[in-house]
Amino acid sequence: MKKKKHSQSTDFVPHPRYGSAPMPSHVQGVSEEAILQCHWSYKSEEIFPESVLMADTSKQNFSIFPRECYVDMRKTCRSCKRPFIFFAAEQRHWFEVLQFYVDADCVHCPECRVQRMAAKRAFQRYSALTLLAKPTPDELQQLVDASLTLHAQGTLKSRDRLGQLKNAALRLIPDYPGTLALVEALRNKDALMPTDSKSD
Ligand SMILES: [Zn+2]
Repeated sequence: MKKKKHSQSTDFVPHPRYGSAPMPSHVQGVSEEAILQCHWSYKSEEIFPESVLMADTSKQNFSIFPRECYVDMRKTCRSCKRPFIFFAAEQRHWFEVLQFYVDADCVHCPECRVQRMAAKRAFQRYSALTLLAKPTPDELQQLVDASLTLHAQGTLKSRDRLGQLKNAALRLIPDYPGTLALVEALRNKDALMPTDSKSD
């Protein structure tokens, strides 16, 4: 099967630790054919054979088939649709250190993964803090920050909820930068929402 296209000029979304280009491993004597046998997923993506790393399958979490080796592979992010590399070294970390199930797939690029983690944390913080009847100024700051994150990514849209929070923040923490950001966010939102009359 020689249908693999080479993407020397591709702009891969950079990974903070591994960069944005395939990483030569200098492991000798492993053919592309042999690499393709290491895991079924390597047959479905473009791989970079020069990056191959041999696996320690005794450290992997698998039921029938381990991954005998790892190789840098090209992926397309499910969220932003940009290309990124799921690095051999990263796979080794996932499957031998973090003990992820050996067939686990990496579907989001590094940047989207960071954003999704931040959104998840913001949602957890927001959910917990929003239950407090009388948040302290510190808790209110955290609630404002979490709300801004969720608002920016479109999860938190309630004008009433944001307006209430803005009023509480203006009372308790008027000088907090997040409070000003919230005022600004709501002002922009007002600007985007036309009022009853459609004037130019
Ligand atoms: Zn992405």
